[in-house]
Parts: sequence; C-alpha cells; structure tokens
Amino acid sequence: MPNSNILAIATPDATTFDANNVSHQRFKVFTAKQLNQIPQLQSLSPDQRFEMQVVASVLPFRVNQYVIDALINWQNVPQDPIFQLTFPQRGMLKPEHYERVAEALSSGADQPTLKSIISEIRAELNPHPAGQLEHNIPTLNGAVVEGLQHKYRETVLFFPSSGQVCHSYCTFCFRWAQFVGDKDLKIAARESNQLQDYLREHPEVTDVLVTGGDPLVMKTRNLRAYLEPLLSAEFAHIRTIRIGSKALTFWPQRVVTDDDAEDLLALFREIQAAGKHLALMAHYNHWQELEPEIARMAIRRVRETGAQIRAQGPLLAHINDSAEVWARLWQTQVELGIIPYYMFVERDTGARHYFEVPLIKAWEIYRDAMQSVSGIARTARGPSMSSHPGKVEIQGVTEIHGEKVIALRMIQGRNPDWVQRPFFAKYNAKATWLNHLEPAFGEKSFFFDD
Ligand SMILES: *Cc1c(COP(=O)(O)O)cnc(C)c1O
Ligand code: SF4
Repeated sequence: MPNSNILAIATPDATTFDANNVSHQRFKVFTAKQLNQIPQLQSLSPDQRFEMQVVASVLPFRVNQYVIDALINWQNVPQDPIFQLTFPQRGMLKPEHYERVAEALSSGADQPTLKSIISEIRAELNPHPAGQLEHNIPTLNGAVVEGLQHKYRETVLFFPSSGQVCHSYCTFCFRWAQFVGDKDLKIAARESNQLQDYLREHPEVTDVLVTGGDPLVMKTRNLRAYLEPLLSAEFAHIRTIRIGSKALTFWPQRVVTDDDAEDLLALFREIQAAGKHLALMAHYNHWQELEPEIARMAIRRVRETGAQIRAQGPLLAHINDSAEVWARLWQTQVELGIIPYYMFVERDTGARHYFEVPLIKAWEIYRDAMQSVSGIARTARGPSMSSHPGKVEIQGVTEIHGEKVIALRMIQGRNPDWVQRPFFAKYNAKATWLNHLEPAFGEKSFFFDD
C-alpha cells in the first residue's frame, strides 16, 4: 500500500456522522455463512467474493454492522485499513493452501473432505506461537489450572470462558486458533473459583489481566462475577486489574447504549473505589477507529470513571505500516486521553506472511513516528516481539567496532532478572522474528538461550 496516500483516505466524517442512528443500532453480526448478505459486498466481483469465502473457511471471520457502516470507507476498498483488518483477502492464505481450499469448494467436495483439508491447513499455521499451550499454563496442587496463563511473575492472564469471542475478528489475530471451534486448542476458564484459588497462593502477583477474545462481549453481570471477588481484603496484593479489549473500536455501544452499559461503568468505579488501578488495555491499529463520534463518546465515558485507557496493537503490512499512520494514531490517542503503551511486532502465526514487516523496517517506522510527535505521545514501547523468553524490543541499528548490529532489550522476561537487559544481534534486514536473529560479535547464543 502506498504510504503517502494514507492521510488522504477519507474517514468517517465526525460532523456528518449520525451518532444517534449508530448509537441505537442493535448488535448484528455476520460470519462466513452470511458473507453474501453484506450489502456493501455486492459491489465486489463474484471472484472477489469467492476468494473471501475460501479464506474465511480457514481463518475466522466475523464482522458487525457498526464496523461495516461506520469504520470502513467503502470507496477505498480493498485498500481501506479497516477492511483489511476485518475482511478476508486472498493473500492471507499461502497460494498452495488457497488452491487446495478453492479447488475443494468449487468442485463441491463433501463436508468431511473439506473439514479435513481445513484442519490440516490450520495445523500448518502455527496455531500456538511462543509455546502458549505447553509453557504458560499454571498448576495448583499439581493440577493444571485452565483458563490461566502465568508467564511473567507479576501478571496473571485470565481467559474467562464466556469471553472467548470478539465483536468482530481481526484478520491477523494470533489468538485465531481459539475462535475456530477446535475444543482441544481452546484455552478457556472453568470458573472464577480457580482464579481465586490460584491468586491466593501467589502473593507475588500484582496484576490480573482479563483477556480473550474480548472479555467485554460478556454481560456485565458475568464480568462482575469474576472481578468483584478480587476486591476483597484477601486479594489486597492484586493492585491492578487490566481488561484487554477492542470493544472501543468494534462496539463502542458497549459503554454507551447497551442495556448494561451503565452497570459496566459502575463496576469500573467500584474497582477503583476498592483502591485498585483499572486499566482498559484498548487494542487500536489505525486512527480511523477513533473517528466516529460514538467511539470518542465511549472513551470519554470510560475515562469519567477514572479508569485509564492504554493503547496497544501490532504493526501490520496492509493496515498501518507507515510512520504517518502511527504518529496520527498516537497523537489522536493522547488528545482523547489515552496513553500509548505498546507497538507489537506481528506474531509468527496465522496469516503472518501477509502482514509481516521486517524488524528493521518496523523499527524505522517506530522511530519516524516518534520523531514526529512530542514527548507526551512517545510512551509506546516497541516494536516489541512477544517471544518465548519474553518481550523483546528493537532498540535500533548501530555499529560497534565496525560490526553492524541490531540493539535489542528485553522489556518483559520469563525470568525477572532478564528484564531491561540489552543485547545485540547481527544486522539482518530480512528478519521478521527473534528466531531469525543471530548473536553479534561471534557469540554462540543469546543470554536467555539455555
Ligand atoms: C505482555 C504480557 C503481559 C503484561 O506485560 P506488561 O509489560 O506488564 O504489560 C503479561 N503476560 C503476558 C503473557 C504478556 O504477553
Ligand atoms: S480483538 Fe483482539 S482477540 Fe479479538 S480478533 Fe482482534 S486481535 Fe484477536
């Protein structure tokens, strides 16, 4: 995508935008089976629609009416970043995978055949990057605790079983394997008691991060059932509750007009009245997500409870691989009272080949975006890889004693002693992930390698 064009893209216009109309919209969602019912797709060619069908049979597809009507500029399809973010594109499957599914679909293969082709392909897409299934699942009295991940000492991730979908799906999502209905792969919570039992045994944990999917797809009363118990005295060590969500983009109505919106905001206030920090870890990829009036209203309403909104999201080809887009995203976030938190490197899973950006280029985009905003908007760490040893930040390219190297820093580590350690890799312009990098200066391994 030509980067210079991005700022010229027409956006949903806040002045003519009919906030009333959209804010009272009822939640309506389209999945792969209903692709052909989306009116805006009728202007695409039958070939394009078939391509979408092929891709949507392997990767998760789910988009709601608000995203279609308010976030996508249909004059700019297929380049529109939110269209790329939510609608399947042919290139998201490797050619050989695409051909296999296309062939099966157009020759009218029976369901079992189709199913087995699809699950073979899915298994080839590294459904659980960074050893998520084997390495980060905690145990309690010798038994596995489902629905929890505990990788970094101070933070436990909690996946409530009823929050394992999203209001729409992102085409690049690294959690895609959880959405495709494969029960064996599903990481989901049995119940809130297990979370409490685990936290009771782990006084070193200060942060609980409720994640998914999107926990804000849950009714407030369900979310409350998980969070309220953590406000009692026995969980005084839990200082921060984070909720990871893309609802402020995909369904801002969640905190504006949904039946239990007020109750959700009341829960946010209660958490803070109990003396804890509440952070909504909002997932944003493009400033276009922040343009609709209702998206801004949602931010104001969350902020009015005292909750802090922190923003994070990956850098992705076809969506936001330009410094202008990031600078405008961060600047807009700051103006709306959001703190930019992380810029991630796209993980090594799913449609990665379509979205990946070389680490060096990612760093250049980050640097150029940083250079064009003031210090207030320079709070996002990154570009950061969530890899097996920890979160590794690309600090830049430099030359040491005549050797061109990439400077890196571990900003979050499986071993707390690793945090903030700098290290160096040989320069590599093509590398897109940590495992493509080799230690600089002739060393045999990185410090975290054994
Ligand atoms: C990023 C992350 C966290 C939180 O790390 P912070 O640096 O505290 O934001 C916790 N657990 C996992 C598995 C993570 O990837
Ligand atoms: S909102 Fe988050 S979890 Fe949901 S599809 Fe997008 S990236 Fe994945």
